[in-house]
Amino acid sequence: MGGDGPFPAAAKRFESVGFSEIVRVRNRVMELLAAGEKVWRFEGGEPFMPTPEPIKEAMARALDRNQTRYAPSSGIPELRRAILEKVRDRNGIPADEESPIIVNGGMQGLFAAFATLLDPGDEALLLSPYWTPIVDVITYHGAKPVLVPVSEARRDGMAAAFSKRKTGKTKLLYWNSPTNPTGEVFSRAEVEEVAAFVRETGLALISDEAYEDLIYEGEGHVSPASFPGVFERTISVFTFSKTYSMTGWRAGYVLVPKRWRTAMQTVVLYSTNGVSTPTQWAALAALSLPESFLGEAKTGYRKRRDALVAGLKEAGFTIEPPRAALYLFPKVPAVLGPDSRAAARMLLDSARVATVPGLVFGEEGEGHLRFSFSVAEEMIAGGVEALRAFATAAAAEK
Ligand code: PMP
Repeated sequence: MGGDGPFPAAAKRFESVGFSEIVRVRNRVMELLAAGEKVWRFEGGEPFMPTPEPIKEAMARALDRNQTRYAPSSGIPELRRAILEKVRDRNGIPADEESPIIVNGGMQGLFAAFATLLDPGDEALLLSPYWTPIVDVITYHGAKPVLVPVSEARRDGMAAAFSKRKTGKTKLLYWNSPTNPTGEVFSRAEVEEVAAFVRETGLALISDEAYEDLIYEGEGHVSPASFPGVFERTISVFTFSKTYSMTGWRAGYVLVPKRWRTAMQTVVLYSTNGVSTPTQWAALAALSLPESFLGEAKTGYRKRRDALVAGLKEAGFTIEPPRAALYLFPKVPAVLGPDSRAAARMLLDSARVATVPGLVFGEEGEGHLRFSFSVAEEMIAGGVEALRAFATAAAAEK
C-alpha cells in the first residue's frame, strides 16, 4: 500500500473570496470571554428581544401535528399566500401568486439571487459602505463588484453616480435600504430614481429589504419593485430575522419575476431543498402578529439607540442618531487615530469594548466604527462607562 496522495486544494474561486471579518472580531471576543474577561459587546447585529411567544407556540404546534415532512421546495402554500398579501398591501409590489419563494434567511435569498443573475465577468453596481458579505458573494460568482460612494450618490444623484460606472458588462444593481452599516433610509425620490435608472438602462435589481420594519422616525420604507415596470426586473429579498427577532430560525423570502423563477427555484432546490417545515409554520404566525407588536419593539430600539448615541457623545464621538436599522456608525475619535482596524483593536484590548472596524464595510467606511445598539440596556450603560474611562485616561496621557 502506498502513502497518501496529494491533497486537492479547495476550488480556486475561494482564493478571491473573503470570509467575514466580523466573525474574526467575534472569535477574539470569545477568547476574552473564555479567559473570564468581561466584554462590552456591540459587534453583533441581532434584535435584543427574544422571539415573540406566538411564533414559538406555532413551531410547537407544528411539531405536535407532525408537520415535519418535506415541504414543497419553494415553500408551504399557506405561507406563500400570506407573503403575497403582505407584499401587495404593505410594500405595494404587484407580485403574482407564484413569485414568493421561501428561503433560509435573507442570506440564502441574496446568494440565490446573485447565483440566478451573475455570469463570470459580469459587473454589479452597489453603494459603499455596504454589508460585507455582498462583495464576497458577487466575487464568489466570478463577477466584479463596482462600488459607488454613497456620499457621491447623495450629492450628485443616484442615476448620475451609477451611470458614471455602468459599462457594457454591468448586469445588475444591488440596493439596500434601510442600510447596514449606516442606518440610512433613502427617500422615496431616491428610490424612484434608482427604479427609473434600472428600467431605462435594462439592468436587473436585487433589493435587500432586511430592515424594512426598523425605521424609527420620518418617511417610511419604499420598495423599488412598487414602481411601475420594476417588479419584472427585480428580485426583492426579505427576512423574518430582524422584524420578528428570528435570526436563528433562518427564514426569509424572495419575490422573483417569472423570467428568473426556474433558475432561482433550482438554486434553492439543490442547495437546501427549501426551509424547515415547522419553521415555515412559525413564520406564518409571525406574519399574523398584530401591528402593535412592532410599535412596542420599536420603542425598545429607539430607547437603546438614543442611550448609546448620548453615551458615545459623552465619550468624545461625533454622532447623529440614524433613522433605522440596528447600528451606529460614528467617526473614530482623534485619540484613536484614523485606522479603524487599529481603533477597534485598541478599544477591545484596552476598554473591553467590542465594535466592528468600518473598513470591513468598504473603503468609504474607513475612519468609522460600527456599534450595534440592539443590546441589553446594562450593556449600553457598562460599555459607555468603559469608553468614558478610556477617553479620560487617553486625555490624561497627552
Ligand atoms: N441584508 C442585510 C443588509 C443584513 O444586515 C442582513 C443581516 N445582518 C441580512 C441581509 C441577512 O440576514 P438573515 O440572513 O438573517 O436574514
